[in-house]
Amino acid sequence: MGGTFDPIHNGHLVAGSEVAHRFGLDEVIFVPTGRPWQKEGPRAGADPGRVTPAEHRYLMAVIATASNPGFTVSRVDIDREGVTYTVDTLRDLRREYPDDELFFITGADALESILTWQNWEELFELAHFIGVSRPGYALDATHLAEHLATKPPHALQMMEIPALAISSTDCRERAGHGRPVWYLVPDGVVQYISKHGLYRKEST
Ligand code: ATP
Ligand code: MG
Repeated sequence: MGGTFDPIHNGHLVAGSEVAHRFGLDEVIFVPTGRPWQKEGPRAGADPGRVTPAEHRYLMAVIATASNPGFTVSRVDIDREGVTYTVDTLRDLRREYPDDELFFITGADALESILTWQNWEELFELAHFIGVSRPGYALDATHLAEHLATKPPHALQMMEIPALAISSTDCRERAGHGRPVWYLVPDGVVQYISKHGLYRKEST
């Protein structure tokens, strides 16, 4: 499951759990993005255009997934130089898991840009795609239909995640205003955010 995870929250974890159950996956690997090409630069306070340093996002993902034996976190994107593209993520994971069937899970919103901007033909050779939708973010699949017409029927599947209106943006805003993020993110992530003063308005 790819994402910025700034910070990882219970919506991401529920999505991973639901998809794993529905598709019978052995393992869900959370892959924090390095420098997302959509959102570059260090995050200043709760500035929506900036992203928190990768090491913090990686460690929060590790803390959030530590108790689940079926969840792991991969550094492939944060250890690779430059901007993150999904095709590189999948090539790296394919090398690491040469004999496994890969499913790339991401939000319907992210999927639209991945499939319309990147080498989408190769993407489908590397993995099945699972688009998860959260309340208020239905995928407009009409413009993907022509790409998909020539692809295997299970190249891209959508799955609705039970109504969890949680977003990282909201978590950052809450943390920035000193409002609680308890129960929106795992307890250890609440404590990590506070320990490092992440998302505080006055910090740069
Ligand atoms: P931001 O508000 O900064 O965009 P986010 O909450 O969307 O953050 P991302 O790191 O962008 O978090 O999430 C990775 C993927 O997980 C996204 O493509 C997103 O659509 C999906 N996702 C995020 N929150 C939920 C949720 N509550 N339920 C289902 N999917 C979600
Ligand atoms: Mg998002």
